Amino acid sequence: MLAFHSDETDVSLPAGSRFPAGRFRLLRETVARELPGVRLHAALPATRGTLCLVHEAAYVDAVLGGALSAAQQREIGFTQTPQTVLRARRSVGATLMATQAALREGVAANLAGGSHHARADAGAGYCVFNDVAVAARWFQRQAGGCPPVAVIDLDVHQGNGTAAIFRGDASVFTLSLHGQRNYPFRKEPGSLDVELPDGCRDADYLAALDASLAALWQRTADDPPRLAFLLAGVDPHEVDRLGRLKLTAAGLAERDRRVLTAVRERRIPLVLTMAGGYGEDLPRMVAMQLHTVRQAHESWRAWAAGEQAPASMYACVSLAGATEGEPG
Ligand SMILES: [Zn+2]
Repeated sequence: MLAFHSDETDVSLPAGSRFPAGRFRLLRETVARELPGVRLHAALPATRGTLCLVHEAAYVDAVLGGALSAAQQREIGFTQTPQTVLRARRSVGATLMATQAALREGVAANLAGGSHHARADAGAGYCVFNDVAVAARWFQRQAGGCPPVAVIDLDVHQGNGTAAIFRGDASVFTLSLHGQRNYPFRKEPGSLDVELPDGCRDADYLAALDASLAALWQRTADDPPRLAFLLAGVDPHEVDRLGRLKLTAAGLAERDRRVLTAVRERRIPLVLTMAGGYGEDLPRMVAMQLHTVRQAHESWRAWAAGEQAPASMYACVSLAGATEGEPG
């Protein structure tokens, strides 16, 4: 399985930030050590034109030109520096590259990404650009005919930016399972939103997940998704500082297993993004994320062992012009 990373580029944080900048590098190093079958590649930055498939040109230019206001930077939670901007572009590049890899091989990953609070005209909540939305639009554009896409967002916070971007667009099904009383406090209606109460535990969560997936497949039965994105945030875990839910590591692992299995059984290529996770214990969080990547890798193996190769009729869509620089 291919996995793309962008953590070598530093992010600048204001004092007191709870953004776990060290988590991404630690995950990459842990994947390199524990999962030698995962092929790691440095991500290339997304181009301005690709970002503009989703984002308003004025916002993209403000980010790329270093012209975000202090208020805009506060809403995002990063200090705008050339390095922070490059990292945001590379994170979108990682999801684009993972999308192309998933179309060829069934499953691929961005070891960051899932920046689901970014809207067309603004960033928010540690999200500069909405990588999943950009990759979904890029796929639809390259494939032609606007094939349907599913976004399965299991980060504990609602995917409000993604929902707003695809509001009124039947070609992208946005599912979000999230804490009812958590950020963002004004939710944006997506295709299917499931609100979970504070303190929700494994059994109730998994029952809600099963019902949500059943609804997703039922509502897309006439024209099933040709590509799925999974936002596998570990912030529903019980020790997360921002989560408010009470899932265990075993519950999160079972969550990931059910989604990966259900998507693979339908022969839908899947792009894994890591999304949120704000526990104080970095190695413990990374261990949970490693388990997610391991399960995705197992799913990739099951694809590779199957008859169908390449994974998708869209396997030959080109990444030319979507990212800058030569693939390593
Ligand atoms: Zn989150």
